[in-house]
Amino acid sequence: MQSKIGFIGLGIMGKPMALNLIKAGHTLTVFDLNQEAVKAVCAVGATAARSAKAVAENSDIIITMLPASKHVTEVVLGENGVLEGAKKGSLIIDMSSITPDVSKEIATKLEGKGIDMLDAPVSGGEPKAIDGTLAIMVGGKEDVFNRALPVLHDMGKDVTLVGDNGCGVTAKLANQIIVNLNIAAMSEALVLAAKAGIDIEKMYQAIRGGLAGSAVLDAKVPLILDRNFVAGGSIAINLKDITNVMNTAHEMGVPLPLSSQLLEIFHALKVDGKEKDDHGSIVRYYEKLANVEVKKA
Ligand code: NAD
Repeated sequence: MQSKIGFIGLGIMGKPMALNLIKAGHTLTVFDLNQEAVKAVCAVGATAARSAKAVAENSDIIITMLPASKHVTEVVLGENGVLEGAKKGSLIIDMSSITPDVSKEIATKLEGKGIDMLDAPVSGGEPKAIDGTLAIMVGGKEDVFNRALPVLHDMGKDVTLVGDNGCGVTAKLANQIIVNLNIAAMSEALVLAAKAGIDIEKMYQAIRGGLAGSAVLDAKVPLILDRNFVAGGSIAINLKDITNVMNTAHEMGVPLPLSSQLLEIFHALKVDGKEKDDHGSIVRYYEKLANVEVKKA
């Protein structure tokens, strides 16, 4: 079934997700501060709106894919925002990675106005956003989830209802711990092997089929060997996520010793000017410590 969908936030992730919705036959109204991104999506059939409010006026389902909590709060609840334009019975799906407290607060405010909300953050990065095979972890009511499911499947492969509002973004925080600690563990190992003079490509082939093998290893080792640190998932975005992880965990009384070290590594990389680079750059933090570079033999 085709829907009237509004899409706000046409960045690295949002643009390909919006393009997949157009491909699936939905009618899209879009808004972004970046006019280049708006033009690119309108060139293949979307209609540009002049505000988030105007997007909501023209849509039954409104999707947001914005950087962080403050942007989602401003776009949904702020002046000329989604709430001002949304009809009763509309559905807002926030697919950004934000904090559970902010997500739940927005959902409660919308519920009071008869508007449904799902938090539905994604994993898989730009390549899976382009392929339409994102993993989507959803928080919200089951009947609302069922209504959104066909649209979410036009952007993702595995779409899972994790629990009530806020559970999707909480699952995403857990996801970010696993991904980034994996990259850090891999980086320690690669730097050790590089300093020992081992051919890293051969070592990678030797270990990838064993217990050390992982999606992270397969995604990041080839890029590191090519010295390709163009973001996908940037240091800035992952620093934001791990900051959210630590704040959320501390509020709940959950110490996270490894994630707190990770946060310091991200701050060091930011100070080192690597904010815009991919989080595979964690290896460059370790390379500096050991004065060695992980590269092809
Ligand atoms: P991005 O910075 O590339 O895109 C964000 C877009 O939002 C930009 O086009 C920006 O102009 C727009 N924007 C910001 N404020 C706005 C406002 N007030 N009104 C309208 N538009 C506004 O970010 P991204 O990489 O696409 O990430 C989006 C979300 O997805 C983030 O929460 C991120 O953590 C999450 N995420 C990113 C990746 C990744 O690999 N990049 C992977 C999974 C999840």
